Amino acid sequence: MTLRLYNTLSRSKDELRPLDPTNVRMYVCGPTVYHFAHIGNARPVIVFDVLYRLLRHVYGADHVTYVRNITDVDDKINARAAERYPDMDPLKAIRKLTEETAAQFHKDIAALGVLPPSVEPRATDHIGEMKALCEALVKNGHAYVAEDHVLFDVPSMKDYGRLSGRSLEEMEAGARVEVAPYKKDAMDFVLWKPSKAGEPAWDSPCGIKTKGRPGWHIECSAMAGKHLGQVFDIHGGGIDLVFPHHENEVAQSRCAHGTAAMAQVWMHNGFLQVEGEKMSKSLGNFITIHQLLDGKDFGGSQWHGRVVRLAMMGTHYRQPIDWTVERLVQARSTLFEIADTLAGVEAEGGPNEDVVAALSDDLNTPSALSIVYGLLKSARRNEAARPGLRATLDFLGLYGGETRDELNVGFEAKAVDAAKVEGLVAARLAARKAKDFKESDRIRDELAGMGVSLKDAKDPKTGEIVTTWEVAR
Ligand code: AMP
Ligand code: ZN
Repeated sequence: MTLRLYNTLSRSKDELRPLDPTNVRMYVCGPTVYHFAHIGNARPVIVFDVLYRLLRHVYGADHVTYVRNITDVDDKINARAAERYPDMDPLKAIRKLTEETAAQFHKDIAALGVLPPSVEPRATDHIGEMKALCEALVKNGHAYVAEDHVLFDVPSMKDYGRLSGRSLEEMEAGARVEVAPYKKDAMDFVLWKPSKAGEPAWDSPCGIKTKGRPGWHIECSAMAGKHLGQVFDIHGGGIDLVFPHHENEVAQSRCAHGTAAMAQVWMHNGFLQVEGEKMSKSLGNFITIHQLLDGKDFGGSQWHGRVVRLAMMGTHYRQPIDWTVERLVQARSTLFEIADTLAGVEAEGGPNEDVVAALSDDLNTPSALSIVYGLLKSARRNEAARPGLRATLDFLGLYGGETRDELNVGFEAKAVDAAKVEGLVAARLAARKAKDFKESDRIRDELAGMGVSLKDAKDPKTGEIVTTWEVAR
């Protein structure tokens, strides 16, 4: 079985050739834990869980090491901890805050059918390793000390910028941020910096007398090096991390260890947006995983974790994904059908080979799911096909034997107000006629949230669009 993955570094789909097939090693940048994780954060968690499951299937469950870190020190964490626990020692305060937030994160993602990674290291448990990297980089001339900071000397690395495809000259020319006077080059970045009053502080490396704290990028170099070694197979994260975070991780790790690569394959998931817009607090469309699972503020319903997972897997991981109520409604009805077909059925054998083959082609989940839908269709008629389908769904993390009622969490099939529905259907048709598709989509979602699904058809005589509706379940 060959596994092909799109590599941001080579900009092509390459065959995965693990350095050691008895220990395939993957590192994924995990969450910064200072608030509830949002649904965008759930994307890499699900995407790389699918890859982890595939790697375990291909190489053996004991032959894969998956590291997903927890970022438990940064500006936002420090500020939130100081605000929440003003009388506590800053180190204790960030620990308390990040422990609470990490526990919530684990609770949220467990519901999404995600396997725990092999190791989940915390940045603040690796301060010693980070300081050792700083020392090594200063010693070999790739970093310098200035005004109690340790800075990476970007021009000292010949091929800096290769991962993100930027040249140093371009980056320097485009550097609009005010450049700190102690930097030798505008692109030099912080490995270690002095802590301000009230911030968490550790003894500094490289002979610096004042106490300090690590920069962001150094933590992943330290944790990946400790748990996976100097060079490993796959490094992943969201597309926003390519520059500067991953570029700087590569620079630190390669220059500290004198290696030609940090990871062989770099994988990046596309971004998630909500109802066609960037998710942000100011737009009021910021949804947390917790809200989806336990609240009723997206489409007026709670959504079962499997529904969220299936909805996420409907789009290829490299494409942007538009998170809509409609998408969740569709995933829920598919899962209803699965529950109806597989009630009481035990898994038998391994996953369907075509599904495995689809995933082996750069994790093509839409193609894998269309195969699953075909299998579901035959399993409805043919009892003998059911145990195999159950095994395939187990493998994909999509179904754990839930009943239709369990999947229907928090959704009350209300007696709908038919006059209101008719009014909304008419308003939607009017919006479509006026080419206001944003409004017509919004109305469709409002109806979906009420459990109403729509079907548009052209009247063959008049050529007009006629919409019929029905209440789900
Ligand atoms: P953060 O907690 O911001 O450090 O992000 C944790 C992970 O989620 C990183 O791999 C990010 O790239 C990813 N991520 C953040 N926002 C989104 C989004 N809107 N869509 C997809 N991935 C995201
Ligand atoms: Zn990272």
